[in-house]
Amino acid sequence: MAEMRAMQLDEPGRPLRAVTRPVPEPQGGDLLVAIRACGVCRTDLHVADGDIDAALPIVPGHEIVGTVAALGPDAEGFAEGDRVGVPWLGRSCGVCAYCLSDRENLCDAPLFTGFSRDGGFATHAIADARFCLPIPQAFDDVHAAPLLCAGLIGYRSLRMAGEGRDIGLYGFGAAAHIVAQVAVWQGRNVYAFARPGDADAQAFAKSLGCIWAGSSAEAPPAALDAAIIFAPVGALVPAALKAVRKGGRVVCAGIHMSDIPAFPYADLWEERSILSVANLTRQDGIEFMEVAAKVPVETHATVLPLGEANAALERLRAGEVEGALVLCP
Ligand SMILES: [Zn+2]
Ligand SMILES: [Zn+2]
Repeated sequence: MAEMRAMQLDEPGRPLRAVTRPVPEPQGGDLLVAIRACGVCRTDLHVADGDIDAALPIVPGHEIVGTVAALGPDAEGFAEGDRVGVPWLGRSCGVCAYCLSDRENLCDAPLFTGFSRDGGFATHAIADARFCLPIPQAFDDVHAAPLLCAGLIGYRSLRMAGEGRDIGLYGFGAAAHIVAQVAVWQGRNVYAFARPGDADAQAFAKSLGCIWAGSSAEAPPAALDAAIIFAPVGALVPAALKAVRKGGRVVCAGIHMSDIPAFPYADLWEERSILSVANLTRQDGIEFMEVAAKVPVETHATVLPLGEANAALERLRAGEVEGALVLCP
């Protein structure tokens, strides 16, 4: 029987462990995907650290690009050999109030890739065909992978930020480097906030068209219409509230954040708002892939072999990554 390799989390706080197991056979509407690339997202780090509770043991990774190696008997929409993307939303129930009102991102009984179903830090993965996305030809495997979460959920966050012209991005990692390109393409002014002292990230942001780059401790040169917070740092919420003008929005884009410190009501007053973005819908995926090809988004990616998944997580934790990290089997 053919074997597959994976990097598996047995217990939070422990390194991922290299395992081999038989290649699974796709059932029902599922696909077997032979993985070519899988991005490493901050959510994977939250899973590994136990900030959020995954179904253990779990193979992390939810930015999968691969080819269809086999189809379950009921799988539709793809053929063997097709290139597919597997995003974070692995399945939604289709019958809850959220699914029935075009908000499957909030589904009551979802499956999330690399969280409640094994993900892409592996040579193979099983994925529900209905939730897989075609990948535009403009992108090779490595550069497409980060689009599947950093890009896609970043794009949803940008939409939730509204139509304003002046947009601040807090935390200039994989998501921000993609969202900045989309927002600049839309004709907006993008202000990038990196960690204090991170001159490389500031220079990187400017090279992508941001009109200003500074540290999260600084005030931007103009009041913002909206701020999107990608860094998992709760103290950025009151900081961003101070940076947005009347009616401005502060969008929290991550799945986990440290506690938000208390702040005076006056900072929220005048119809400023704070909201969070959770997950994605299939429609987000389809729309974003079209936009990404039009811009076209240039993903900056550093490639590591699958076996170095632990090193990849450490580099992400240390903030040493310019753009995105991608694992290749
Ligand atoms: Zn549902
Ligand atoms: Zn992610």
